[in-house]
Amino acid sequence: MTHLLNADLHCHSVVSDGTLTPEELAARASANGVELWALTDHDEVAGQHRALDAARAQGMRYLTGTEISVTFIGQTVHIVGLGFDPLNEELVRGLHRTRGGRELRAREMAEGLAKVGIKHAYEGALKFVGNPELISRTHFARFLVESGVCKETNEVFRKYLTEGKPGYVPHRWASLKDAVGWITGAGGMAVIAHPARYKFTPTEEFALFTEFKNHGGQGVEVVTGSHSAAEYVTYAETAREFGLAASRGSDFHSPDESHTELGTLPLLPGNLTPVWESLAARIQ
Ligand code: AMP
Ligand code: MN
Ligand code: MN
Ligand code: MN
Repeated sequence: MTHLLNADLHCHSVVSDGTLTPEELAARASANGVELWALTDHDEVAGQHRALDAARAQGMRYLTGTEISVTFIGQTVHIVGLGFDPLNEELVRGLHRTRGGRELRAREMAEGLAKVGIKHAYEGALKFVGNPELISRTHFARFLVESGVCKETNEVFRKYLTEGKPGYVPHRWASLKDAVGWITGAGGMAVIAHPARYKFTPTEEFALFTEFKNHGGQGVEVVTGSHSAAEYVTYAETAREFGLAASRGSDFHSPDESHTELGTLPLLPGNLTPVWESLAARIQ
């Protein structure tokens, strides 16, 4: 299949921290000309069946998806899985374990926020949650915007929810080895999400890519809503250097928040191997 495909292989629904249902996302993607779509909710595959049905109803091809939270040398890294069997038991168990601990973390985040005068943030965040197991910083951000503490979610993250700030609680997610293993063990492809977002030194980033490959990882996001045009070039080069397939995805969360709309990013550069090439047999 050609690299000239409007594929959007990264977005979130109400099943994790997006604000649209899988059906609403499918309609929006289709209206924007998406030909191949994947819903990649954080640490969860519960929306996959609905997403596949909705994609079919819109005449779009579909790859199963998820985005797994991983802790790698002290930082959170996201690994996207594509084209796996969503009923695979080890994957489902692994994701369940990864979600565990979010509630306790959320309560600790609320305690931190209470210390700086922001009361009842746990209950406030819960109002925005579609799936209680997936309570995330995004839901706290929406509450702090709603209650007028900040103007927009970006500001909430900067002032309250990132390292060193009152609502930040360090958390230990899945290991890189496990996340890649769950995805590939279920017949899918593991992809490093938005690599430019991490604050790694060049040596640490090299270690991430090297270990990811050693565990069986095969892809990296090059064209994503989290990258600048210059970063497309940087990570296209990294993809070639490490012999990784390249992915494209908006990381769309909400019409009110996301700066990148579904299906509207530049197409993948022609000198890369798209992830959908070796996943052709997994496309539904
Ligand atoms: P969590 O998994 O609970 O740590 O939440 C991570 C989520 O927060 C990501 O998936 C993004 O959707 C969102 N996020 C992270 N940083 C920012 C930011 N600077 N502005 C807006 N949303 C962010
Ligand atoms: Mn998110
Ligand atoms: Mn992510
Ligand atoms: Mn994402």
